[in-house]
Amino acid sequence: MSDTIFSKIVRREIPADIVYENDDVLAFRDLNPQAPVHVLFIPKRAVATLNDAIATDAELLGKLLLASAEYARQQGFAEQGYRTVINCNDDGGQTVFHLHVHLLAGRRMTWPPG
Ligand code: AMP
Repeated sequence: MSDTIFSKIVRREIPADIVYENDDVLAFRDLNPQAPVHVLFIPKRAVATLNDAIATDAELLGKLLLASAEYARQQGFAEQGYRTVINCNDDGGQTVFHLHVHLLAGRRMTWPPG
């Protein structure tokens, strides 16, 4: 896959407001937040889209979600609630082709999404 801005953030080539990191996952604040808390959880090993994930990526996908939940607990809004979103390709609204989980919190979410 081609390099993306998120891979550059993983390599610390461009700045980001990093809020969480473990061996496999990096998380940073979204530049254009859609909620009071809007953090992106990305795998350090890039996968372009959810369509490109294969069986051997299952653990990595799980780690992204577990990291999101751990961050929500650490920050104290887990019980109040939050939303996690993975956009895929055009209709899903994906703009950066390095798979990521959006974690949104701090306001009441609407459903269905727009
Ligand atoms: P998506 O549309 O699901 O691919 O989400 C990409 C997200 O990345 C958008 O919400 C952007 O605001 C966000 N974004 C793009 N570039 C950066 C950046 N350099 N730092 C932080 N967030 C970014």
